[in-house]
Amino acid sequence: DVRHGPILYLEDVTVSFDGFRAINDLNLTIDDGELRCIIGPNGAGKTTMMDIITGKTAPDTGSVWFGSRHNLLTMSEPEIASLGIGRKFQKPSVFEALTVFENLELAMATDKRVFPTLTATMKPEYRDRIGEVLETIGLKDLMHRPAGILSHGQKQWLEIGMLLMQRPRLLLVDEPVAGMTEQEMERTAELLTSLAGKQSVVVVEHDMGFVRSIARKVTVLHQGSVLAEGTMDQVSNDPEVIKVYLGE
Ligand code: ADP
Repeated sequence: DVRHGPILYLEDVTVSFDGFRAINDLNLTIDDGELRCIIGPNGAGKTTMMDIITGKTAPDTGSVWFGSRHNLLTMSEPEIASLGIGRKFQKPSVFEALTVFENLELAMATDKRVFPTLTATMKPEYRDRIGEVLETIGLKDLMHRPAGILSHGQKQWLEIGMLLMQRPRLLLVDEPVAGMTEQEMERTAELLTSLAGKQSVVVVEHDMGFVRSIARKVTVLHQGSVLAEGTMDQVSNDPEVIKVYLGE
């Protein structure tokens, strides 16, 4: 799905916490429309890497570029988000008392920096967009039910849908299938695969079966830098990777 070259570019990025290098000379390129999985043992720097991309953590050295023009290190978290970088944390956070539809509506409103009167004043194009997103996340039949009744998997899909409302160019997704049933995992694989191409998707995930089922390219982080990169078959046969995982 490599379409227009890189959308995200991290070069020689280093971050220390109290003298400890959590990210150590990290180089990473994500292509436009790509679905990339990031794996690596605990403490490898996966979360810190996501924090750097979204502007939550400032690196000590290096550069981070989005598209061809945007130097993310000069931008605030909200500015970076408004470029179309959406992040989904591991735990679902939806508004349980609101319906599925209203959750999506609210996600659209956040984009406009206004808090709308729900439903009453909604523009037709918002309604169309919500319809599209409901189709994508497979929750059309539940659109008028409160989000609180959804299963864990359905809440995760709704939250992905909330991010999609803003038409992101890059989605960062943290451990999407943790706690999911086998069936929900399959559905999530379909969802994430269908999103790639339309936007770039970076998934941090521990479940290797899931990673194998979705990613053409996997990046293995270890001690804050890239240890290996390639298909799941390539990285899982890499002696360095095997050593790191068996030694965990
Ligand atoms: P991962 O997500 O791959 O498990 P993290 O990015 O959370 O790894 O952490 C990388 C390393 O940096 C770990 O050793 C962690 O303890 C350390 N670290 C992360 N954030 C902080 C922080 N705010 N202060 C101190 N150390 C941190």
